[in-house]
This record gives sequence, structure tokens and C-alpha cells, in this order.
Amino acid sequence: MKIILMLVASLIISGPVLAAGQATTCDQQAPGYYRMMLGKLRVTAVSDGTVTVPLNTLLTNISPEKLRQAMTRDAMTPQAETSINAYVIDDGKKRILVDTGAGELFGHNGGHLLTNLAAAGYPAESIDVVLLTHIHADHSGGVSLAGKPAFPKAEVYVDKRDVEFWLDPSNVSRVEASQAHTFAESEHTLRPVISAGMLKTFLAPARLPGGIRAESTAGHTPGSVLYRVESEGQTLVLWGDIIHAKAVQMPDPEVAIHFDVNQKQAIATREKLLRQAADEGYWVAAAHIAFPGLGHVQHEGNAYRWVPGNYTTQVGH
Ligand SMILES: [Zn+2]
Repeated sequence: MKIILMLVASLIISGPVLAAGQATTCDQQAPGYYRMMLGKLRVTAVSDGTVTVPLNTLLTNISPEKLRQAMTRDAMTPQAETSINAYVIDDGKKRILVDTGAGELFGHNGGHLLTNLAAAGYPAESIDVVLLTHIHADHSGGVSLAGKPAFPKAEVYVDKRDVEFWLDPSNVSRVEASQAHTFAESEHTLRPVISAGMLKTFLAPARLPGGIRAESTAGHTPGSVLYRVESEGQTLVLWGDIIHAKAVQMPDPEVAIHFDVNQKQAIATREKLLRQAADEGYWVAAAHIAFPGLGHVQHEGNAYRWVPGNYTTQVGH
């Protein structure tokens, strides 16, 4: 009896022991989705993963010392683990996905969108519409999978200027050499959608399914757009790539990145949108601010700061 009691006590103290080779899930994050209500709309942020970005070689208009200081203020280094966020807008009838993550293009760092969508209750075939903020590996890469559209029932909307730019290899002279790979990636990932007759182009400003408005944010790419969603007097603006490094570009919007096709225009667009977001106080969904990337912009001195959304569990219709 005493031996049994000792055995029970030792089990309680040490917990159950895993058999050799038994998998644990301790090296995985919780399923990557987070919801909030915007008026009557259910908005779900969905993670595609994180990628470590060498800001010291990618950012422009900033000294190494200023970069280090800005990152230190956010308790980070210039080797910045950066979120890739997509979003579902659900009005109870239609499920609209904004951006598709990197698909097969980033290896294990990206391509988790489909798993996380399914965990959130949105398997790929439940998505009715896909809206792309622009064509770039981490936003449009997941639009196809193994040479087929990844969202079989969804029409895919993108600004015509990005289709004309990235699907025409003769434009390669208009980007930095380090970005030339985007042409082949765009062809590889968008062609299956075009062949299926599922790609729809528009010229921003445009009104799209669900009453969502596309507005041009040209600069980062020629056809970059934001999506403006409204319900019951609340507004959410889905940004795409207005910000790549929040710790740096909120206090100094003039810092640009080599991914920008037109850095000067991208800076002007960022300054305009940060001011607008701070003045109007709307919700922002940011593709590369730490997941879920939902929050607000506030004025701070002559610049801006990011205020992450307060955690909520009140997400019923
Ligand atoms: Zn991006």
C-alpha cells in the first residue's frame, strides 16, 4: 500500500511521462488566428508565419546607429522576426480573405495560412473572395498551391497596375536587381489563377465585393492598394505594406526599404496614411506589425506611435 501511495505521489509530482518518440506540441505556437468585431462584421487575423528580416541591409535612409537605437526601444535587434498577417472579413454571408501569405515561397517560415484558416473555421473552400493588397511573395504567394488555385471557389481581385507590372518581365529594369526574382514568383503563383479564369482586375479607387473600397497606395508597388471596410460607423483599413518595421518607421516615416519599387513615392504614401490614420482614429490591420497586427495609430510629437488593439473575447455577431 505504501509503495502504491509513493508511486501515485511521484506521478502527481512529476506528471505523466511521454513514451520514447512520442511527439509533443511544445515547439508550436497556439493556432494563429485572432478575432474582433467591427460593427456587424467578424474580422479574423490569420497568421501565415514569421520571417526574420535583416533590417540593417534592407532599410534605407537610416544610419546603423539610429536603427539599433530604434529597435532597442522595442526590445528587438535589427534582425527582426516579422509577422506575415492576412485577414478574413465575414459578414455572415460572404467570407473575404485579404492577402494570402507566402504559400510555398518562404519554406517553413511562411505557408501556414491554410492550416490557421482551417483552425479558425475557414477551410480554403469556404473563402468566397480574395483581395490582394499587392503582388509580392508574402501577399500573393499563397494564392496558388502546387500549380492550382489555393482557394478553389474564390475570385481573386488585384489592381491592374500590379498585374501589368509584375507579369511583364520586360519591367525587370525598373526594379533593383535584388528584387528581380519577383517576376518569376508572380508568374508562378498567379498563372494558375489566371488560367482558371479567376483573376479579376480593377483600377483603384474601386468598390469591390462586400462594399469594400480599394484606394491606391502606389509606391511600394505600382498597384498597391489599401482596403477600407466599414460597418455600423466603424472603419478598418487593411494596409498591406505601409509599414515594414514599426519600431523604425512610426517615429520616422522617411525610412524606406529596398522592396519598394519607388521609394520616394512609398515614403509620401506612408506619411499621408499615418497622418490620416492618426487623424481619423480608425482601426488598422497591418500585414507586418506583430500578429495580429490590429491596432490604431496615434500622433506622437511630429511622428507616430502604434497602439495595439486591446485583447477581446467578445466576438459574437
Ligand atoms: Zn509584405
